[in-house]
Amino acid sequence: MPVPSALGYANFIGDVSYSSQTLPSNFTAVCEQIESQFTALESVVYWPGSEDYALHTEHWSLASSLPAACSVAPASPEDVGAILRLVHATSTPFGVKGGGHNSLPGASGTAGVHIGMHKFNEVVYHEDTETAYIGSGLDWDHVYSALGEHDRLAVGGRAIGVGVGGLSLIGGFSWLTAERGLAVDNIIAYQLVLPNGDLTDVSADANPDLFWALKGGGNNFGIVTRFTVNVFEQGPVWGGLVAYPITEQELFIDALMTFNEARDVKAGILTGFHVDTSSSDGSFIFAILFYNGPTAPAGMFDKFLAMPALSNAVLPDRTFLSFLETYVLPKRAGQRMFAENINVKGYTPELIRHMFTEATADTLGAFSVTGIDAAILPIQDTGFKTKALDTAWPPHRQFMLLPAYLEAQFDDATHDSTVRSELQQLRESILQVALAEGQYPSDTTLRYEYLCSAGPAVTLDQIYGLSVARLRQVKLQVDPENIMGLAGGHKIVS
Ligand SMILES: Cc1cc2nc3c(=O)[nH]c(=O)nc-3n(C[C@H](O)[C@H](O)[C@H](O)COP(=O)(O)OP(=O)(O)OC[C@H]3O[C@@H](n4cnc5c(N)ncnc54)[C@H](O)[C@@H]3O)c2cc1C
Repeated sequence: MPVPSALGYANFIGDVSYSSQTLPSNFTAVCEQIESQFTALESVVYWPGSEDYALHTEHWSLASSLPAACSVAPASPEDVGAILRLVHATSTPFGVKGGGHNSLPGASGTAGVHIGMHKFNEVVYHEDTETAYIGSGLDWDHVYSALGEHDRLAVGGRAIGVGVGGLSLIGGFSWLTAERGLAVDNIIAYQLVLPNGDLTDVSADANPDLFWALKGGGNNFGIVTRFTVNVFEQGPVWGGLVAYPITEQELFIDALMTFNEARDVKAGILTGFHVDTSSSDGSFIFAILFYNGPTAPAGMFDKFLAMPALSNAVLPDRTFLSFLETYVLPKRAGQRMFAENINVKGYTPELIRHMFTEATADTLGAFSVTGIDAAILPIQDTGFKTKALDTAWPPHRQFMLLPAYLEAQFDDATHDSTVRSELQQLRESILQVALAEGQYPSDTTLRYEYLCSAGPAVTLDQIYGLSVARLRQVKLQVDPENIMGLAGGHKIVS
């Protein structure tokens, strides 16, 4: 049966489905039916009140942890198929959770049937083809740990805890992107449960249109149970996190501009600042420095290393995983987090100064916002261009657009709409400066935002630009009844 839009949830506010917190009924009976239809021994239903339920419905941001009727953990693709058939037959909203890091409420949480993919957790290295099977329910650090036993690495997330499922379905910026492209450029096959519950293998040969659409199309085309990805030999790396006083903005900008001139594909950086709204003592600038080799050449990082630092965890000759462990990002248990991003060509000193000036306690502090993070993520475009596959996202590779990330941490759910609106205004003011500085494309058809932290007001056209028409065609073929529209997030409508 088609998914009725009159249900008032998980359908389309513009092109975006957003909140599912006001559902009319409970879906316990559907959960019981799912439980009775599971065939794999390890498939299980977790009920409200249990520790497992609490663990698996928890998301990185409290605002994304919705009160599901149950949390189901299928252990086979067939059981994923059974769930999809049942939620379709009963028009039950559902959420698919990988690592739970998406901060848009309803993108992977739900008030209906919560599907935890954590039992899809295999990592199988194929030495003959230099590829690996990676379960869609893993976090990237578990993948790196398993591949590390073979001195291998894959193109995946840059932080501990980020999920394979979500990141691989939206694009995927990695520490290896300057060398090897995006995560989507390194996926060579998908094991996919189609929206109608059937299991299929998707590759460039087997189903080229769907293969293209899965490269960036998010949770719109079914539920992926396994990715087959390229892997590479990986030796020791250099790097770690350095933190600086928030007052060192000009030295920081100067160091970043010097780094950007180096154009070394083995070098990476992830920087930004954190504002503590209650005390400037808790605010700081951070720079995560990375070089894909046991030591970094002199020059590009020198100014970062010479700046007065609060702490410095940079080390040579370390494993990739130990490098990631220097900056485990706090889950901030119990905190709501909203994020927005704006994709820019690059970062000028003026643009960064504007971010520092606008992302302050004065702008957001009044609304129970305890912290604001702004992240600046420059990446050299070599791998983005040379390793590019034909992908739904990004919709073109004429130039690389990088997310400038904004996040507000706050406590009070009654401030949700105010915080969202303040964050959107902050994004808009940064967008205007980026436009004036030539860092935001003036040709609207060449813009593309990143699904990673796209807010609820960001439309499909803004995310997918030139890919929208083809995405709608594939959607019509694969999911004519819009079964995936019962799950939240940014929805492609045929
Ligand atoms: C701390 C932090 C660090 C980050 N680092 C990076 C980074 O280095 N590079 C980068 O590109 N992005 C990064 N991100 C953004 C991140 O990639 C996105 O938030 C992504 O959606 C997270 O994936 P997940 O599986 O953890 O999230 P989830 O919230 O579990 O899922 C996100 C979306 O994917 C869907 N989904 C998940 N699994 C499946 C599946 N198997 N089949 C179908 N749909 C599925 C969900 O339904 C949901 O819509 C980071 C985010 C955070 C919070």
